Amino acid sequence: MMSHDHDHDHPPYVEDYFFCEVTSVMRLTPSMIRVALRVDGGERLISTGHPDEWVRLALRPDPETPVTLPVQMADGKWGRPDGSQHCPNRPYTVRRWDADRREMLIDLVAHEGGVAASWAMGAKVGDIVGICNPEGRFEPPEDTSWMLLVTDITGLPAVGRILEELGTDQRAIVHVEIPSAADRQEIDSAGDVSVTWHETHGGGERHGGYTQLPGIARAIERLPEGPGYIYIAGEARAASECRKHFRDGLGFDKTRIDAIGYWIEGQARV
Ligand SMILES: Cc1cc2nc3c(=O)[nH]c(=O)nc-3n(C[C@H](O)[C@H](O)[C@H](O)COP(=O)(O)OP(=O)(O)OC[C@H]3O[C@@H](n4cnc5c(N)ncnc54)[C@H](O)[C@@H]3O)c2cc1C
Repeated sequence: MMSHDHDHDHPPYVEDYFFCEVTSVMRLTPSMIRVALRVDGGERLISTGHPDEWVRLALRPDPETPVTLPVQMADGKWGRPDGSQHCPNRPYTVRRWDADRREMLIDLVAHEGGVAASWAMGAKVGDIVGICNPEGRFEPPEDTSWMLLVTDITGLPAVGRILEELGTDQRAIVHVEIPSAADRQEIDSAGDVSVTWHETHGGGERHGGYTQLPGIARAIERLPEGPGYIYIAGEARAASECRKHFRDGLGFDKTRIDAIGYWIEGQARV
């Protein structure tokens, strides 16, 4: 999965699942819904140490059927010995994890036609969902002196957590594509951070397509001196075009780029 070598040690992935109860729902901005989840058995949850870590959020398959999760069987494998139905699930960033309170914040983009987005738009306190142990990817090499983050609004929760966890000696140049100025967020950071907001997301024909991330990337014609790290998150084809620009257009070391397709235009993220 990683396109560069790990410099740090992280615990190995441990398969595990958790039921969660929604404890609050708020419209953070016009296009973003924040849900707080109380994680049942959260003392077992293993955070990865990667600030972009994500879980798969499992939702009820239909209004009559509750969420079910795999269970660990006598041989240690996970399965559904009771024949329960597989639940639709989608990847979402852990915007914040409070291990003491076992509370997780997840920010979901409100968009048309999505299983998870539709759930979020009607989510209520008391709703039950499922999650798995998180996985993560963001990992600047040890010698990194600057980082560039290029994401659309689906990557904004990851950007938020990355910036909040920066040290005072770290530098981040950030470009985020959002639908409107009202979707900007205030993000605290101890680091040296510059954020540029691009209000072109979801603009359709007005902007020549749903996402303008490749154009935003191509407008970056020069990178800072010294060893850097580039993190890209957005629509899958757009993210790979952005990577191509930095790798082929600017000759940046491809082993120091992580580009992740967060969603796929015209296709569910199953
Ligand atoms: C590692 C990772 C972390 C992620 N973190 C977040 C996060 O924190 N918050 C977040 O909102 N998303 C996040 N995503 C993206 C999210 O998983 C996808 O957008 C997913 O498709 C949403 O599921 P859905 O059920 O709403 O739509 P789906 O059922 O998957 O798709 C249905 C339709 O909606 C379209 N669609 C999907 N997403 C969008 C979108 N954002 N805008 C417009 N159209 C869309 C699809 O093209 C498809 O046509 C993350 C993805 C990954 C891989």
